[in-house]
Amino acid sequence: MYILVINAGSSSLKYQLLDMSSESVLAKGLCERIGIDGRLIHETDKGKHVADLPMPDHGATMAIVLDSLLDAEHGVIASKDEIKAVGHRVVHGGETFTASVLITDEVEAAIEAVSDLAPLHNPPNLTGIRACKQHMPSVPQVAVFDTAFHQTMPAKAYLYAIDYVLYQKHKIRKYGFHGTSHKYVSECAAEILKRPAADLKLVTCHLGNGVSLCAVDGGISVDTSMGMTPLEGLAMGTRCGDIDPAVVQFIMEKEGISAQEAGSLLNKNSGVLGISGVSSDFRDLAAAADKGNERAVAALEVFAYRVAGYIGRYAACMNGLDAIIFTAGIGENDTMIREKICSYLTWFGVDVDPELNGKRGQALDVSKPNAKVRVLVIPTNEELVIARDTKTILGK
Ligand code: ADP
Repeated sequence: MYILVINAGSSSLKYQLLDMSSESVLAKGLCERIGIDGRLIHETDKGKHVADLPMPDHGATMAIVLDSLLDAEHGVIASKDEIKAVGHRVVHGGETFTASVLITDEVEAAIEAVSDLAPLHNPPNLTGIRACKQHMPSVPQVAVFDTAFHQTMPAKAYLYAIDYVLYQKHKIRKYGFHGTSHKYVSECAAEILKRPAADLKLVTCHLGNGVSLCAVDGGISVDTSMGMTPLEGLAMGTRCGDIDPAVVQFIMEKEGISAQEAGSLLNKNSGVLGISGVSSDFRDLAAAADKGNERAVAALEVFAYRVAGYIGRYAACMNGLDAIIFTAGIGENDTMIREKICSYLTWFGVDVDPELNGKRGQALDVSKPNAKVRVLVIPTNEELVIARDTKTILGK
């Protein structure tokens, strides 16, 4: 069974076509600069195909995606009918969606209704859904939400200590993101540790451009570091994470900027980029730190210190910890950051083997044999989770 996975952003659209009999990727690609000019990067076993093509909107972009999949030279299918379903990444499901769903008119309206909570993400996700419906009207479409995995959090974890009326009126609370990634790596961890998920207390660390940690107790999310929006929690590439909320008003008054400008500052010019003034990319930061750039050193220190602090917090919240899982761009590749984070956690029983920690590209337990708390590195695969959920829903 072939399933197409779509991740539609405002000016980009990522896709993967998966053969679910072997869970292998037949083709994947990226359409960039939608609404500007348009560029396609399409990859298959046969190689990479790059083309500048007009992409005035998501409808035209989806037509290009389907043409590429059907193309005589770099295509992988002979007919659109081979695509049995489409799985869409949808960022925010609010409190409405606790699991993936088959998209109906009512579901579309409900996704629209929670768009207030993710004004930059949900509208383009919906545009992607509509573009697929336009080109494949009889193919089932499934929505997979970044927030759904975290809907198991108890109220003590998701309530903010603000007037309860604001929660009731506007649904202001912690939702959490990266749910597909946290779910995937926590399930892989149970397999690697050869123990039932129900018996495990895990902290999954998704360290990419966006950064979030999740406390997974007995296979379910009981707490996570991102909040109502992806701005809360750890220091990220360009996002500030936790700060004193009073800082926002203070900056607005001192710098004479609007609420919107303050939001942009905290989302786009903060995090490790803000501290270092160098880059949001950890490879650039490491290179600058090596050359003695003190702000780059400080950015890396702040990043690792906060991640370690959150791991400790979640160990306390779960009253135990069996394993820490690192995933995503930084988590999978940056051995130095992993080492730095783990150096805070030796008293918990973390003991990383430096040689194993140096390996890359595979799921691995990098701990020494007797370490009480295991440290695992697991490459994430959000597209596979979306395709699996889509397949499951189709089977119902
Ligand atoms: P996204 O959240 O956009 O999916 P990724 O998970 O791809 O992000 O992570 C991107 C980040 O991973 C980059 O900004 C970079 O900081 C980091 N990264 C990628 N490769 C390496 C590497 N080899 N060493 C250190 N950091 C890396």
